[in-house]
Amino acid sequence: MSNLKEFIQHLYEEYRLLHFGSLADYIPELTKANPDWFAISVVTKEGEVFEVGDITENFTIQSISKVFVYGMALEDCDRMTLLEKIGVEPTGDPFNSVIRLDENSKRPDNPMVNAGAIATASLIKGSDPTDKLNRMLDMFRRYIGRDIYVNAPVFMSERATGHRNRALANLLLNFGIIDHNIEEILDLYFQQCSVVVNCHDLAVMAATLANRGVNPITQSKAIKPCYVRDILSVMYTCGMYNYAGEWAYKVGIPAKSGVSGGIIGVIPDRAGIAVYSPLIDNRGNSVRGIKVFEALAEKFQLHLLDSPLEKCPFLNISDISKG
Ligand code: GLN
Repeated sequence: MSNLKEFIQHLYEEYRLLHFGSLADYIPELTKANPDWFAISVVTKEGEVFEVGDITENFTIQSISKVFVYGMALEDCDRMTLLEKIGVEPTGDPFNSVIRLDENSKRPDNPMVNAGAIATASLIKGSDPTDKLNRMLDMFRRYIGRDIYVNAPVFMSERATGHRNRALANLLLNFGIIDHNIEEILDLYFQQCSVVVNCHDLAVMAATLANRGVNPITQSKAIKPCYVRDILSVMYTCGMYNYAGEWAYKVGIPAKSGVSGGIIGVIPDRAGIAVYSPLIDNRGNSVRGIKVFEALAEKFQLHLLDSPLEKCPFLNISDISKG
């Protein structure tokens, strides 16, 4: 990765001029983000850091939290219990869709869509809601390597406007996936989404997964290594929602996006990547984030299925979605 530093600087200069997409406004507090914010961070498994842009700008983690809470649920329950309640099938539907839960599966298809993430939050252990929240925050701290907190206005904003999530929770109750404590479960879910991070933190979290659960900077163990494969598998197949297939085709690394504008990507045994830019497309993925990942994957052959022996001819990937 010798010229990585120059390359991410170049990507930053190029894509900061891109002003497509919009701020997520269904959570009113998220409209306070500055559309110009843009940061790229790469943290290697050895703890080397390459970054550019608004690296220390704070934002709420949103759906990227689902990855880490799923890992926690794997540790709190076990793999089979989790699989009985939450599948691992990509949906091809928007992240907040109610359709498949009602019509087909009667259980969430995967833990990366909202229905699955609410079910996952319900499985977090703790003696009471405060204990569950504290355990969750401690889990995030192990990945991030510093103290973190919940953004109360964003939490309140989600709680006040999360009618669709409330509908999903009621369906989950109807199908026997969660119990009656709907508001308590939703509060934990809204709190996990409202954890405050910056782009550097996200790259460290991704690098921790790349390093099989050990934070490469603090050396703290964030998750048992045996669960990292499960997490990366659902990221790979479901992490970008109804863009997951195209992402797997073009970029080819496990990833997760959030509506506040972050995207993380994990290159197993090599590095974690994070991009932050709050302008998102109609699937809820950061527009500049996708561009940066596509360019990095192309330049450094990050696609997990790339042959190490032959370099792919340049593929005009930006044209595929139009077709
Ligand atoms: N908290 C958001 C929600 O529940 C998370 C969605 C996302 O980041 N895609 O809608």
